Amino acid sequence: MKIPQADLKAQYATIKNEVMQAISGVIENTQFVRGPASKAFEESFARYCETEFAVGVANGTDALMLALRAVGIGAGDEVITSPFTFTATGEAIHWVGAKPVFVDIDPENYTIDVSKIEEKITDRTRAIIPVHLYGHPADMDAILQIARKHDLKVIEDAAQAHGALYKGRKAGCFGHAGCFSFYPGKNLGAYGDAGGVVTNDAKVIENIRKLGDHGSSKKYENDMLGFNSRLDGIQGAVLNVKMKYIAQWTKRRREIAQYYNEALKDAAAIETPKESSWAEAVYHLYVIQVDNRDEIKQKLNEAGIGAAIHYPRPLHLQACYDFLGQGKGSFPVSERAGERVLSLPNYPEMTEGMLVEVVGKVKEVVG
Ligand SMILES: *Cc1c(COP(=O)(O)O)cnc(C)c1O
Repeated sequence: MKIPQADLKAQYATIKNEVMQAISGVIENTQFVRGPASKAFEESFARYCETEFAVGVANGTDALMLALRAVGIGAGDEVITSPFTFTATGEAIHWVGAKPVFVDIDPENYTIDVSKIEEKITDRTRAIIPVHLYGHPADMDAILQIARKHDLKVIEDAAQAHGALYKGRKAGCFGHAGCFSFYPGKNLGAYGDAGGVVTNDAKVIENIRKLGDHGSSKKYENDMLGFNSRLDGIQGAVLNVKMKYIAQWTKRRREIAQYYNEALKDAAAIETPKESSWAEAVYHLYVIQVDNRDEIKQKLNEAGIGAAIHYPRPLHLQACYDFLGQGKGSFPVSERAGERVLSLPNYPEMTEGMLVEVVGKVKEVVG
């Protein structure tokens, strides 16, 4: 049996009629950019995140970039984040003109180590971007407390954390802005690129809406230099359909994680993921740690199991961040994670038989 890391076709099969109808509605009314379907999704997503506002943008990277700009981050500023993330977090900081300043991760949950943030704060620091990696929320109370003390903005990278809970409240609702990706493979995925920002700050949402539409809130009146970063009507329509299912899909991801945790707990060579006391994670990825990770991944792949690596190399060791001058040894927890993490298949449509198969193969290969 072949079991992929994720299976978008299996999900499509469960919502095909609804989604095709929603897409054809957009084509019929020709409101392809923003428009009623996008607006309906924004309202629904804000309700879901328990924030006052949401705005759709072109993708998750833009969500971060526009949110940074909207709160006034730019040239000469420093923004603190974790190096153990997808490269987009660092890119967004760089392309608003700021400098990414990395802080190592907490080995328990792969999110920024709050005890190491303050030592990196300088008189140029303006913001912190916690990344809720794999769908596990960072320690937001501690981060917000540091931010208040040093007058910093907090922009959450919630691209992998739709619906994740921190002390019972949704990821993305804590900072000045919460940024989401709706890339097809994310827990809430469009049928193309899409992203969004949630916030309780009316000014931030107005800024992002305007920045994403050529600096204009009234046609052909441009009071700032902006970008083109808007949510497509078709993507809005697809996402709207999926909003009906996100809670049940999340529940299933958590069940699968629990199944794996239980089934693998006696395998001494496998470190299963933990949830910090404050967290209810949404397992965008189910990530274990093992020695000889590359060899184990290869053997699992050969056995038909879609094991994958997120992410093999922390940002500070990527060639594009050489200019920061931080070599090997700078962030040991991230570097160790990069060598040991392995993501097992986790998607809501997995059957019991598939789970049994994955666990059997993992145990066989790890020994
Ligand atoms: C996916 C992702 C992004 C970027 O989102 P895109 O929609 O692909 O631009 C940013 N940060 C993290 C942690 C991500 O996983």
